[in-house]
Amino acid sequence: MKQDFPIFLRKVNGNSLVYLDNAATTQKPACVIDAMSHFYTSSNANVHRAVHTLAGEATEGYEACRSLLKQRYNSTRAIITSGTTEAINLVARSWGESNLNSGDVVVLTEMEHHSDIVPWQMLAERKAIELRYIPVIDGELDLDAFDVALEGAKLVCVVHTSNVLGIRNPVEKIIAAAKSVGARILLDAAQAVPHEMIDFQQLGADFMAFSAHKMCGPTGIGALLVNDTAFDEMEPFMGGGDMIQTVTLEGSTYQTNEHKFEAGTPRIAEGVGWAAALDWISKVDLQQHHKRLLSIATSIKSSLQERGMTVYSPLGPDDAAVVSFTHPTIHPEDFARLLDAQGIAVRTGHHCAQPLMDKLGVSGTIRASLYLYNDDSDAEVFLSGIDRVLEVMA
Ligand code: PLP
Repeated sequence: MKQDFPIFLRKVNGNSLVYLDNAATTQKPACVIDAMSHFYTSSNANVHRAVHTLAGEATEGYEACRSLLKQRYNSTRAIITSGTTEAINLVARSWGESNLNSGDVVVLTEMEHHSDIVPWQMLAERKAIELRYIPVIDGELDLDAFDVALEGAKLVCVVHTSNVLGIRNPVEKIIAAAKSVGARILLDAAQAVPHEMIDFQQLGADFMAFSAHKMCGPTGIGALLVNDTAFDEMEPFMGGGDMIQTVTLEGSTYQTNEHKFEAGTPRIAEGVGWAAALDWISKVDLQQHHKRLLSIATSIKSSLQERGMTVYSPLGPDDAAVVSFTHPTIHPEDFARLLDAQGIAVRTGHHCAQPLMDKLGVSGTIRASLYLYNDDSDAEVFLSGIDRVLEVMA
């Protein structure tokens, strides 16, 4: 698999690259890079507006991305955004502003990424809505507390799979409970779609947000899947070209499809690149890789524990292959710099989840996150890299 990814040909600080920062962003296969380069060299034009050949090719390339998204995730609607963050903000602005009122309840969890906390806090300031956070206890959402918090809830926002701990939440149960009280439900699936196939309609959420760059696609593009009922409840919040049907000096009418929420020139080359990534990943058996990567992560976890590290990731059978850990005395950043000197890329810090860090009682962790192209040899290099750090710091 590594041979599909040109980046693995480079050396980092004199060493072959061992890339274990996949929860932040994944590497891109040559077909994605080539598709974007080909678009700029041969088809570059704006979409939807002109009748010339290049505009037709650009529109086809961009809209192919939307069709592939709808097909892959079984959704009737796919609004293309700049990523998970914009998708969640879009729900807050386009649905939240017109459907939530003073005193209404939005249920979140302590495990959310900042992008699924801050937009709701901003909305709460504007509309005096109440935010209730489901606690995390021993790495799991407290579902009893969730049932209590649901009382009067209008919206539930849950991270499907945690970027910090790899935990896959029981989203099926959460969706069923939210629906039983008539609440809408938003899934942050940024870390989920890279690891498992999701049938959006079957799962039954109202909104699902994710980013291309975490599944081998380009940066700067993502999607919001919306079911038809929730779609009809949304009002556009960004006005401009492409989202209108007619504009007069007296007022405007809007498109009725996803374009209503995509004002302005979209990310055309990125759409073309994401379509190539979706095509590439459709040939990958995610389930088989999930098992393989989880087993590598589990053996990394026990090796780290043997070396005196605290590992926070439970690595249950459905969890993503993410190993978050700390050393009793070595600061995560020092640790990561010493690994980087050996060509090993890991992430450190709060991972945009400060409330979860507070819950874990740490200011940050070191996170090794694996993806499709990682293999046993990466784990070996990583662990000998760890030993080298421990030697240097002894
Ligand atoms: N939600 C989760 C769980 C994430 O891991 C991330 C990115 O790390 C985001 C949201 C934000 O994604 P983006 O920066 O692509 O908008």
